[in-house]
Amino acid sequence: MGELKCEGIVLRYADYKDADRMLTLLTPDCGIISVSAKGVRRQNAKLRYAAELFTYGNYMLSNKNGRYALTGCVLKDSFYALRESLEHMCAASAMLEMASYAGIQQPQTELFELLRGCLFTLCELKEQPKAVLLVFIARLLKISGYMPEIEYCVNCGEKAGYFLPGEGGICPECSQTAGAAGLIRLESGTADFIEGCVYSESESFISQAEQGVIDNAYILLIRHMQLCFEHQFKSAEYFIK
Ligand SMILES: [Zn+2]
Repeated sequence: MGELKCEGIVLRYADYKDADRMLTLLTPDCGIISVSAKGVRRQNAKLRYAAELFTYGNYMLSNKNGRYALTGCVLKDSFYALRESLEHMCAASAMLEMASYAGIQQPQTELFELLRGCLFTLCELKEQPKAVLLVFIARLLKISGYMPEIEYCVNCGEKAGYFLPGEGGICPECSQTAGAAGLIRLESGTADFIEGCVYSESESFISQAEQGVIDNAYILLIRHMQLCFEHQFKSAEYFIK
């Protein structure tokens, strides 16, 4: 029986038996792993906090033939501030759902750091949780290799006026032949905003963005991501207007 010490964030859980819980943890070194947490639902369980959604901690796990069991946890953050607003909670839940879908049982350092960073940002920024979720989505697309070309037409390279989910930017002329189905009109500023989401080192661009641009960027990236991942992210629907 081996022991594994690793950082982890609880992405989801399922209760079983009277007091037990199966955790899905995102870790930097082992990707997504399932961990059985015995007795954590008891009122006075010592490791109760380690088995809550969003908990970020240093986990100690026993490893028996690839089956992990919780033996200890040093709490680093519970992201408590998320619980103070419905919008923040929805954005954070969407991040967990997307991370659990994108992650696999391989090193996931980038995904782990992305999720942790965006959860911290959500807690710090009181405004625009939707834009922080967009930062997460844009960077997730980037590290998954699905970031589309937005500013220019994917057919001819002219300036795009539309976006076709699953493909990328489409210019007005090519939009005539591409057919209208699924085309989303690109607002001016959306391509720049999404570029900011991917590359910006600070969050200051978020407070400068117009709501129309944020809404446009959101619908465009969500539709694109759902096609690329072939999955409907239920928790993301809250922000679709
Ligand atoms: Zn074109």
